[in-house]
Amino acid sequence: MNAPAAAAKAALPTPDALAAEARHPAAAGDARFSNTFLRLKKKLERGVGKAIADFNMIGEGDTVLVCVSGGKDSYTLLSCLMALRERAPVNFRIVAMNLDQKQPGFPADVLPAYFESIGIEYRIVTEDTYSIVKDKIPEGKTTCSLCSRLRRGIIYRVAKEIGATRIALGHHRDDMIETLFLNMFFGGKLKAMPPKLVSDNGEHVVIRPLAYCTENDIARFARTMDFPIIPCNLCGSQENAQRKQIKNMLQGWAREFPGRIESIATAMTQVVPSHLADNSLFDFRGLTRDTLVAEGDIAFDRPELPAPSRVIPIVSEFTDED
Ligand code: SF4
Repeated sequence: MNAPAAAAKAALPTPDALAAEARHPAAAGDARFSNTFLRLKKKLERGVGKAIADFNMIGEGDTVLVCVSGGKDSYTLLSCLMALRERAPVNFRIVAMNLDQKQPGFPADVLPAYFESIGIEYRIVTEDTYSIVKDKIPEGKTTCSLCSRLRRGIIYRVAKEIGATRIALGHHRDDMIETLFLNMFFGGKLKAMPPKLVSDNGEHVVIRPLAYCTENDIARFARTMDFPIIPCNLCGSQENAQRKQIKNMLQGWAREFPGRIESIATAMTQVVPSHLADNSLFDFRGLTRDTLVAEGDIAFDRPELPAPSRVIPIVSEFTDED
């Protein structure tokens, strides 16, 4: 093992090692062994396990290619999948993958050292998509869509090379909600980010096992785990203004109306096509007196809604503990 790997091994025990060592007196005083942290770890793993079961994400014999960017979400995803693999009723293989896109200042030794330290099979793929994007997109224009298209193509290629049957991405519940509002406000579509999808060419199944996990929980977990985070702004791209606007709106709601974000997340799992207006989802034209409609006739009723949540004063700064 090289020097960075050895250093990372000393600093970064795996989640399972943490759980085991937590029972040891030497662990006392370390935040990673506190009951609060172990409860958080359990909550995240329960969320991932539920998403995997609800959407049939992983089955016997699957090879899961886990895309790790070096951000908090993908580190957490890898940790949870590794922990769950230990006690899953099915056997599956995990291969971690990082794509080094040659962004200036990308610390290429961090992820190999981390993967070595936790003993996971991994692939580091180096492709200079940064130069391609800089070359093709005029200065000042958004680079993300070309960059993501290139990245997606490379990930699909690697998945094929290693015989992966699943590609796991680190998007979480709040990414899905943001996308829902982005599409509604700026795209005129009621569409979010699915927990599971098939690639356009039908060759790959992409899964998002963090679909039920909140960004706050992930951030708290990542902080305590002290993952070697790689900054996400190395390409120099500014955060998309529309996404930022949606994020601010949702964070405002989270502060002002406790429970609203949870309700939106639940709503995404309880769609009633007969009470929207999309002819392709519900046959309004063919509707007759004999048609059975989910949720029945509420045309003349006031909608039944739970009592409004207690309104709490707006705090000046959003924190993970909110
Ligand atoms: S932020 Fe940078 S690295 Fe990420 S998708 Fe956009 S251009 Fe690519």
